[in-house]
Amino acid sequence: MQIVCLDLEGVLIPEIWVEFAARTGIPELKRTTRDEPNYDVLMQYRLGILKQHGLGLPDIQKVIAEMGPLPGAKEFIEWLRPRFQVVILSDTFYEFAMPLMEQLGFPTLFCHKLEADAQGFLVNYHLRMPNQKQEAVKRFKELNFKVIASGDSYNDTTMLGEAHAGILFCPPDNVIREFPQYPVVLDYAQLQDEILKASARI
Ligand SMILES: [Mg+2]
Repeated sequence: MQIVCLDLEGVLIPEIWVEFAARTGIPELKRTTRDEPNYDVLMQYRLGILKQHGLGLPDIQKVIAEMGPLPGAKEFIEWLRPRFQVVILSDTFYEFAMPLMEQLGFPTLFCHKLEADAQGFLVNYHLRMPNQKQEAVKRFKELNFKVIASGDSYNDTTMLGEAHAGILFCPPDNVIREFPQYPVVLDYAQLQDEILKASARI
């Protein structure tokens, strides 16, 4: 049995922060790991902007509840799950992701946790551990699983490197340039083909 590890945002669902920025009209919140590879710098920046605008977790959750998965994502997951064990490894937070995971049929999700105060304002975030995507793949390998990983961004590249096979899904040009060792796919049909090719090879 092989495990397919997938990134969440940019692969199965829209970028939550980008969508939130568009709906609230706060352009500063459009920054993602594509722009700022240092995740802690990015998160502290985001929490600061939210505080400045007086926006709390209920406001964010309301926006997220109205987003759907990317077109075709649900069907892709339905194709994948009978063929592989599927684990989604994400740097988002359970508080954000669960309304969208429901729409994907609740596949397994490993991500992080937010801390809000009594008024619902976000005061901190808690990573379960640093670099959890790569660490999770490492642990799966120790359990004698073969791992195929796919993601779109900087924060996926250590996961892709740790896996037996890594695939970039709709990455930005700078990630393609910096990581030419990984095949690039642009839609779910191509991703299915690449996963099957990797599965036969590893
Ligand atoms: Mg992503």
